[in-house]
Amino acid sequence: MLDIQALYKSFGDAEVLKNINLKVGEGEMVFLIGPSGSGKSTLLRCCNRLEEPTSGAIWMDNTNLLAGDTDINRMRQRIGMVFQGFNLYPHMTAEQNVMLALRRVQGKSEAEAREIARRELDRMGLAERFGHYPSQLSGGQQQRVAIARSLALGPRVMLMDEPTSALDPELVGGVLEAMREMKAAGMTMLVVSHEMRFAREAADRVAFMQAGEIVEYGTPAELLAREGGRARAFLGGEH
Ligand code: ADP
Ligand code: MG
Repeated sequence: MLDIQALYKSFGDAEVLKNINLKVGEGEMVFLIGPSGSGKSTLLRCCNRLEEPTSGAIWMDNTNLLAGDTDINRMRQRIGMVFQGFNLYPHMTAEQNVMLALRRVQGKSEAEAREIARRELDRMGLAERFGHYPSQLSGGQQQRVAIARSLALGPRVMLMDEPTSALDPELVGGVLEAMREMKAAGMTMLVVSHEMRFAREAADRVAFMQAGEIVEYGTPAELLAREGGRARAFLGGEH
């Protein structure tokens, strides 16, 4: 589904990604973990070209996303991205926030956009919140609106960068539940997270990054069983 090959990224003299090779199979949930500054966000951002990699290839459905003739705007509709902050429009209701890109980017009719928005908000457990403004929603609900907005465009892959890091602890569970639901529905997901308990139970594979490289890769069970492995201490943590 998503196949990252020999990816390098430098900012000036600083080589931030070094020969990254990573495959995410259809319907898989792969976690990227590792210390702060190891390049996790940069790697996700390269996948929808919010950052331009220095070299390498990222294949999705037989298209190299980094090729010069790839239509970035079309590609971005197929790669959803959810960040730590929710970036909802404060003057728009939940439903209007989800409808916006459907109308503007995909040219859907008002009625069709509303139907899709309600369906996706409903999936995120927000059936009672269509008409609420972001300020009337908890952080967890806002993040689920942001996820619904991304899913509404029908992406093939979802990239999630610390989707629960900005939330109060009691709100984290609802977002993790939404991610579980997405995976159950067959979504392909590449997730940066510090929720290690969730990673242990939900991840198909875990890539441990350090200083711009993937230094360990495997199922959670494999990494936890690796004596002296660097990922083991990380993944075995309480969060
Ligand atoms: P992580 O998400 O794992 O914490 P990042 O991908 O954010 O790591 O950062 C990896 C490295 O790249 C860090 O050393 C960071 O300072 C550097 N970096 C990230 N973005 C930029 C940028 N726009 N310009 C220069 N350096 C950057
Ligand atoms: Mg980061």
